[in-house]
Amino acid sequence: MISELINVGTEILIGDILNTNAKYISKELATIGFNMYYHTTVGDNPNRLKSALELSLSRSDVIILTGGLGPTQDDLTKETLAQLLNVEMVFDQESHDTLLKFFVNSSNVTQNNYKQAYIPRGSTIIPNNNGTAPGILLEKDDKIVILLPGPPREMIPMFEETVLPLLVSKCETKFFSNYYKVASIGESTLEDMLLDLINGQSNPTIATYAKVGDVLLRVTANAKTYEEAKILLDKYDVIIKERLGDNIYANEDISLHEVIANTLIKRELTISIAESCTGGLIVSKLTEIPGISSSLHSGIVCYSNQAKTKFLGVSEDTLSNYGSVSEKTATEMLLGLYEQTKSDITIVTTGIAGPSGGSIEKPVGLVYIGILYKNQSVVEKHQLSGSRERIQLKATNIAFNLIRK
Ligand code: ATP
Ligand code: MG
Repeated sequence: MISELINVGTEILIGDILNTNAKYISKELATIGFNMYYHTTVGDNPNRLKSALELSLSRSDVIILTGGLGPTQDDLTKETLAQLLNVEMVFDQESHDTLLKFFVNSSNVTQNNYKQAYIPRGSTIIPNNNGTAPGILLEKDDKIVILLPGPPREMIPMFEETVLPLLVSKCETKFFSNYYKVASIGESTLEDMLLDLINGQSNPTIATYAKVGDVLLRVTANAKTYEEAKILLDKYDVIIKERLGDNIYANEDISLHEVIANTLIKRELTISIAESCTGGLIVSKLTEIPGISSSLHSGIVCYSNQAKTKFLGVSEDTLSNYGSVSEKTATEMLLGLYEQTKSDITIVTTGIAGPSGGSIEKPVGLVYIGILYKNQSVVEKHQLSGSRERIQLKATNIAFNLIRK
């Protein structure tokens, strides 16, 4: 079934609010096997809404609209739909009674509110337990039109409780997906590695989504049953695993630091981190994960040379001869941190996050990231690009990737 979405609201068009309804509804529809072909955002303007609706009725089976169902003068979605389909607005006793019940506990009902008791003839009410505007379902000429209120706290429960079950009952096939979380390969390299699969795709389809430092790869099959989908997905699974090997760190959309934190906790490994250019980001990400206190010994931000000497024992000679951004400094930071903490794993970062502070020998983005584990230290040199924030995030991800290995 081809579906499309129309989000009504001038506030979306002028950038006052983010269209989170589009994200939510699209994701939900994808999981039940609906093809979402178009998103339209239109202001609170009946003429433009009418032409958007007209176009969508000409090309889609299911049209979902959000917004413009409220009591105010600019809320015109229902009326516009009725006019376009040439059906009249009729009084609905149930909506009227629900409206009155809602106002028993709230402020006074206004004349405007009674507008909400009128629905296009032939439509069904989608109950709204969190607001006054009911949703509307109208089936006409093989088309399904669903109107939902704009506020997500009203729309989402209505979607879950009424719209989803209804749509599920209408469709024959579903989407089944395999997820691969890939670290240390950028999105474009990853696409290159899978180009033949991506170009040849129809069922399953392959999509990559870049996040900073890692990429989510989603392979989706459209089938009547899970068993049928599994045959399609398994074929791709073998090829993807063969090509990406241990760059795949998870088979769900989970961040690398979460996987690392949970592994540390499970394996009862302790960790300490001394950060210069990442300014505490690595520690901050680890502390997002509940239960990390059993593994995280300490995090030190040694931003200045004095701090590197005072807290980690980096020698002044090293700092003046090699500079704070050097393999030697990173190595001494590692050893100093280990001396202080005796943690199973120690991690250090030192680099130039920019935008200033670079030189020809040491450009912005030069970062040394070190790990010491079981008496073995490794210091990697990376030349990273992008803004200060991206360089810090990339360095943080490289550090987590080093722990993973
Ligand atoms: P109300 O009864 O609140 O007027 P409504 O159905 O008429 O509901 P709108 O007037 O279009 O909806 O929007 C009301 C509010 O709902 C917006 O100010 C905004 O906060 C939220 N909202 C509307 N559309 C969206 C959307 N697409 N994504 C996220 N929030 C939205
Ligand atoms: Mg409104």
